[in-house]
Amino acid sequence: MSKKVRTRFAPSPTGGLHLGGVRTALYSYLYAKKHKGTFVLRVEDTDQTRFVDGAEQYIIDCLAWCGISADEGPHTQGEYAPYRQSERKEMYKKYALQLVESGHAYYAFDTPEELEKMREQLKTPQNPSPQYDTHTRMHMKNSLTLLKEETEKLLADQVPYVIRIKMPKNETVTFTDMIRGEIKNDSNLVDDKVLLKGDGMPTYHLAVVVDDYLMKITHAFRGEEWLPSAPVHVLLWSYLGWGHAMPHWAHLPLILKPDGHGKLSKRDGDRLGFPVFAMDWYDPKTGETTKGFKELGFLPEAFINLLALLGWSSGEEKEIFTKEELIEAFSMERVHKGGAKFDFEKAKWFNHEWIKKMPVASCELFVKPILESKGIDIKSDEYLLNVVSLVKDRCTLLNDFYVQSVYFFQAPQEFDLESVKLKWSADKADFFTELISRYGQLTEWNLEALETCFKALATEKNIKVGDVQFIYRIMLVGGKYGPGVFHISEMIGKQDSMERIQRLMGLLG
Ligand code: GLU
Repeated sequence: MSKKVRTRFAPSPTGGLHLGGVRTALYSYLYAKKHKGTFVLRVEDTDQTRFVDGAEQYIIDCLAWCGISADEGPHTQGEYAPYRQSERKEMYKKYALQLVESGHAYYAFDTPEELEKMREQLKTPQNPSPQYDTHTRMHMKNSLTLLKEETEKLLADQVPYVIRIKMPKNETVTFTDMIRGEIKNDSNLVDDKVLLKGDGMPTYHLAVVVDDYLMKITHAFRGEEWLPSAPVHVLLWSYLGWGHAMPHWAHLPLILKPDGHGKLSKRDGDRLGFPVFAMDWYDPKTGETTKGFKELGFLPEAFINLLALLGWSSGEEKEIFTKEELIEAFSMERVHKGGAKFDFEKAKWFNHEWIKKMPVASCELFVKPILESKGIDIKSDEYLLNVVSLVKDRCTLLNDFYVQSVYFFQAPQEFDLESVKLKWSADKADFFTELISRYGQLTEWNLEALETCFKALATEKNIKVGDVQFIYRIMLVGGKYGPGVFHISEMIGKQDSMERIQRLMGLLG
């Protein structure tokens, strides 16, 4: 019987959650759910120097907003807790010592100055930045070069040390990546990575292996940038005697800048005017807030839909997927090897499609707080529902709802006078004066009555309906947008419609 699938998302809580990170979480989630497995959140906070207050909760909030919350994580108890690496500190050292014991790792006592000196002395034009590796380690101060007693003395005197992996010479380290197939690495080209740091904390390399093992992770998805470290991890799995349990790895393709040149960064977003973080991120160190997709007005359904398709395709024409449909359709075989270009216009298209698709009542739940936060009296839920159904297909971002619907609640304060003036004339003024009078006499105020009255008058006066309708729109809305004018008029009522006509006529003199 095959093992129960367990995937994990293992972010370091150091700042805003980049959309590439959300996509890693999403693929891990989709894969787990597709195979009726468990999705775990593990907080990789062993680098104390990069710790940022609030970043962990922020990640949890982002995942919750996306609807991809973890089954296990710092917020849950359970057999594999704790899920925060800083709380697991004591667990790692014994594995580092076990590796030293078995000859696969060693103590290194080099000071930062000595490391610098090595880099200076050993650099050649062919190798401008020598690493601590199979070539250089025998020139350094470590338990491979010191006598046993010397090492013991340094340890007894509590001289600071790190533990490094001893990369083997002339070996080909091979593993199978779910996306890229068989990957071979020359062990001579990989440095002796630090496994345990001077402060007793593990580095990512040790912690990721120990935790994936202890948490019984079966499939580990992470960004392509970790590919160069994979041979270290593969060796650690085997040196610790756990080779049989190593998870299936998948290194996900990068999300690229819109022009395809390099990885999409926060700076690209700032430069090109779109977010790269899931939600607004307030950095307590700089006091700066960076915009997120959520606050810009993206629906979580649209956000995960667009992320799913950044690097994966379903094999069909279809592009709009609910979360359930994604779980059903997702497969690692269709994840691309190459990077995926981020296209903000396409991202907005997804949101627009999702707004159109969303039932009016669900939309209203988003729109109500947007309007209320701007001090708008929504009249009644029924009225708001009608407004939402009229404007919804015109909104790309949730925040567009404000501009698209405010005039249903308040008369416009500003008008596109330039556009009106191009069409304004004495006979138009005459038309609208007469229209007010006819509106006054209407006994029924509904779409049909309004439209008939308006069009009949235009025909009588021999005026193009389109011209007066255009002016009428600006009278009601303030600008050249919004749903049909008679719909708007019907909604805002007779009194308000007449006042808005008068108001603009007054401004036109
Ligand atoms: N903590 C690593 C990161 O934030 C996780 C990599 C992994 O998933 O193994 O990139």
